Amino acid sequence: MSKKKNRYVVGFDLGGTKMMAVVYDEAWKGCGRSRRKTKGFSGAVAGLERIRETIDRALEEAGIERDALAGIGIGVPGPLDSERGILLELPNLGWQNVAIKAELEKVFKCQVVASNDVDAGTYGEYRFGAGQGKRCVLGVFPGTGIGGGCVYDGVIIRGKAISAMEIGHMCVLPNGPLCGCGRRGCLEAVASRLAIAQAAAGAAYRGEAPYLQSVGGTDLTKVRSGVLAKAIAEGDTSVEVIVRRAAGWLGVGIGSVVNLLAPDVVVLGGGLVEAMPEIYLEAVEKSARKHAMPAFHDVFEIKAAELKDDSTARGAAAWADAVLQRGVTG
Ligand SMILES: [Zn+2]
Repeated sequence: MSKKKNRYVVGFDLGGTKMMAVVYDEAWKGCGRSRRKTKGFSGAVAGLERIRETIDRALEEAGIERDALAGIGIGVPGPLDSERGILLELPNLGWQNVAIKAELEKVFKCQVVASNDVDAGTYGEYRFGAGQGKRCVLGVFPGTGIGGGCVYDGVIIRGKAISAMEIGHMCVLPNGPLCGCGRRGCLEAVASRLAIAQAAAGAAYRGEAPYLQSVGGTDLTKVRSGVLAKAIAEGDTSVEVIVRRAAGWLGVGIGSVVNLLAPDVVVLGGGLVEAMPEIYLEAVEKSARKHAMPAFHDVFEIKAAELKDDSTARGAAAWADAVLQRGVTG
């Protein structure tokens, strides 16, 4: 009697500083994982080689061979031609027009589905986390930038050949501060962790945030989410004002998206949310309800993401599986 062969899918999170491969079984249990640095080499050829090694290590830990793989889902932190699986640009690493799908399919002899990492993270929350069973899940992930994704009726919303839902680049303040995209007044320029850190470092420099100043908070690179949360807990009220103001801006953006899509849940993830869930969620929610039209005030809930570090890998794997098994348009 032949034993039914198990089906495995790899989820891959190509982060800006770290990459991670996780092997999932049919019950979506992670049975092997490997994590490597993303930086430390130059060019896409070396990068693809490191991705291959990372997947092979995860497979080795899981004790399975390449040919047991049904597919690979990969989440990438940059614009993507998802139809052809081409990573258009990763400015931090100097990658341009990398045919990541074709390259990995050649090596692993299985289908590869590439998606934007925030889309994958939002899909992960829809399948396994705070968005389970919902019709429309809006995912918002404030970090160095502000990522957005939306799953509607079980499908990731995107353009024909490009990912969508760039909530961080909605203009909320015409002629406002310069954004990394080259335009002014984007949500990201006033509400990202980087924008918060810049304002908080300024407050520390001016002596308005004594705790933050005592831990080197005039240095932007030291003002991480955990440090901001500690500064607020230690009584730096100016830091709390800065965080609440930024969260309020995020609520302005979310309120506008609520008016467009009427999501039943908005899932907030990322370091700021994890470091100070109460303050941050409360401030975002208050502002989002205020900026949504009256008819939309009470149609949505705002929840913290549940999957944490694994959200992109698990979501990318589950999305790949949905595309391959159920014919969802990938
Ligand atoms: Zn922008």
